[in-house]
Amino acid sequence: MLKKKIIQIQRFLIIAILFLLCIALALGILLKYQELKNATNHLAKSKDNQQENLVLLDDKNQNKIEIFEDFYNQDKNQSLAILEQEAQKIDNDINSTKSITEANLEQNGILDSNLSLKNSSDNNLSPKNASILENNSSYMEQNLSTNIQSIQKKDKYLPKLAIIIDDMANASQVRNLKALNLKLNPSFFPPDKNHPNTPKLASDFNFYMVHLPLAAIHYNKPELDTLNPNDSEERIFKKIAQIKKDFKNLKYINNHTGSLFTSNEKAMKHLYKALKSQNLLFVDSKTIGNSKALKVSKEMAMIYIQRDIFLDNEDNVAYVKKQLESAVKLAQKKGFAIAIGHPRKNTLKALEQSKNLLDKVELVYLSEIYGK
Ligand SMILES: [Zn+2]
Repeated sequence: MLKKKIIQIQRFLIIAILFLLCIALALGILLKYQELKNATNHLAKSKDNQQENLVLLDDKNQNKIEIFEDFYNQDKNQSLAILEQEAQKIDNDINSTKSITEANLEQNGILDSNLSLKNSSDNNLSPKNASILENNSSYMEQNLSTNIQSIQKKDKYLPKLAIIIDDMANASQVRNLKALNLKLNPSFFPPDKNHPNTPKLASDFNFYMVHLPLAAIHYNKPELDTLNPNDSEERIFKKIAQIKKDFKNLKYINNHTGSLFTSNEKAMKHLYKALKSQNLLFVDSKTIGNSKALKVSKEMAMIYIQRDIFLDNEDNVAYVKKQLESAVKLAQKKGFAIAIGHPRKNTLKALEQSKNLLDKVELVYLSEIYGK
């Protein structure tokens, strides 16, 4: 009986649970439906709002376009006005420029006429002006050349040129030589009855030489006391000793003529011995190709000095100037050169006219080359 009741209770409970479950399910479905419905309503509302918004936007855009168009039209009008104003300004500028240009052109016309006047006046004055200009130009060139030369003169490395002036015998020659105002090496004859004052004349110079007459192969007006190859050693010694006595401070002797004497080895040995005893140096004028001076000076252990260039083998200015150019070139080539000339009118004239050329070298005494 009890068992039956328990079974009934169990059934009741099961049915009750099932019933409750059904109710819960129904409630759940109802709730879901309600949510769906709400959502649909909300969507519909949103759509409406969107449409409304779109309408509003359209309105706003329309307003904006209208406003923009207004502004645009306004700006366009203003811009056009500004452009017109600018165009007017440009027109004004063009007109003013044109008038200025025209004025300038007129002025140019005046200038042209002035220029043509000036040209015509220049043409009238042209030879005079040209000559003044040329003078100025040459004056400037001279100044420039003088400046360059003075700079070069200060240069201690200028090539040295010793110019010996042979055959110095009288006061007139001394005056002519001194008038040149060039540093030269005058070489005086030993005194004799034809030119007794040579020692005195020589003493007027800071540096001088003695021009010793030696016998030539072809005699042409030989000097009175010319030394011959056959002269005794004693005669040669006496002659040199006398020269040393007459010319104080003498250091250098060169030969006048001497083709016969200098080509004689024995005679040259006597001469070199005599010179050595008087502390004198021989400068070979080289009047002959086979001079024994080099050979003998080596044997005597004496300095050998020889002439490089004769300036006036031809007695004309152009020739002497050409020879001077050669002497300068030689000095530039080997550092120094020795030239020999004579106190002739043409030689002195050529020296006078070659002063610019001679500024390329340092004119020196022989002592400045050989240090004695
Ligand atoms: Zn001479």
